[in-house]
Amino acid sequence: MEYLKLKGIVCKITEYKEADKILTLLTYEKGKVQVIAKGVKKKGAALSHAARLFYCGEFECVCKNNMPILTGAAMIQDFFGLTNNIETLYYASHFLDVCSCFIQAEQPSGDIMSLLLNSLYLLMKSNSDPLLLTCILHFRMSAIEGAAPVTDFCVECNKPLDDNCTLGFSLEQDGVTCCKNGKGISGAVYQAINHICTADSSKIFFLSIPKTDLPVLYELSCKYIEKIAGRHFEILDRIEEL
Ligand SMILES: [Zn+2]
Repeated sequence: MEYLKLKGIVCKITEYKEADKILTLLTYEKGKVQVIAKGVKKKGAALSHAARLFYCGEFECVCKNNMPILTGAAMIQDFFGLTNNIETLYYASHFLDVCSCFIQAEQPSGDIMSLLLNSLYLLMKSNSDPLLLTCILHFRMSAIEGAAPVTDFCVECNKPLDDNCTLGFSLEQDGVTCCKNGKGISGAVYQAINHICTADSSKIFFLSIPKTDLPVLYELSCKYIEKIAGRHFEILDRIEEL
């Protein structure tokens, strides 16, 4: 029998049999993992505390017939504050959705996990603008995936870019252009994208942007992550309606 110890977060819960649940975990060590949480629907079950969305902890499992069965769980970070209001819940669910889309099974996923848990933490502490956190998550995710937008030279004429150029963002060509194409962006938006994609991971959240520029950055980040992922993230529609 194989024993597993995994650090991660519950991103999805599926009902299974009469008393069990299947937890989909996003983990540092093994990427996306499904584990069976036996008996957790029964009252007073020892592991029911871990069978909750956003439970973040260290999970102990034993593998039987290639299926990990949960045997223990110790909480690392209490994220349940994320469920206190509907707006925060939508953003948090979207963060899980995006990361879950890019984290594969059996792939160590330290970079994405750190991005996810730091983003959720700042979202819960609510001193950061959730729109800006979403922009950071989107663009940084693209950089982790090796698909960051080009920000050092124009994607059309190859000239080096700086703040003095008239800049646009070309979704077709995955980067910034000085050739009067794409969506027009300010120097602040350009600098923000550049910072998010290239700064050391410990510094990506140290970012401020004029309020008037934030909607542009947000819209581009949504379109860009959907292009990289090749799918639409439905929760963005609900965030839009807030
Ligand atoms: Zn150009």
